Amino acid sequence: MTIVDVLTGFAESGGIGILKPGASLADVSERLGPPQDGEYFPSRRRKKDEPRNLRYGDVRLEVCCDILRAVALSTGSGSVDVPSGVPGEAEAMPSAVTAAQLREAFSTEGIRAEEGTWPEPAEQVTLVVRHSPADVHFTFRQTGPDESGGGGAVLHSAIARDTHHVCR
Ligand SMILES: [Zn+2]
Repeated sequence: MTIVDVLTGFAESGGIGILKPGASLADVSERLGPPQDGEYFPSRRRKKDEPRNLRYGDVRLEVCCDILRAVALSTGSGSVDVPSGVPGEAEAMPSAVTAAQLREAFSTEGIRAEEGTWPEPAEQVTLVVRHSPADVHFTFRQTGPDESGGGGAVLHSAIARDTHHVCR
């Protein structure tokens, strides 16, 4: 498995393997084992209705009402651990990928990605793939002078967040 496979799968299915917005934490835990704690400030008490931050390797989850609300992968660190599908196991892979590489992989798979439409800093490129309940956003950052229309920008993160979640 390569990072391009993982990201193409994310674009295609709306999730990273079974980690998808809308999935239940119980189902996910049964298949992948218990998640790891992903709180940024572990000692801080969460407010009521505030999502829990959990993770499988470097795949970060926001969980509310025991439902996955967001699934995110940051790729800027050079290497990521992604769950392999076997409980408790993750696969490490180099995470550097350019916008040109992903656009090519998407077009090979027939995946339609839109350019982000909201105002962005000039050095940032966003590709959006429509999914329900959550669109997948791929955000790239320009690392040097660009002569390829954003094609040389490097992926910073991929995230799908269900913004319509209503607590039960
Ligand atoms: Zn909720």
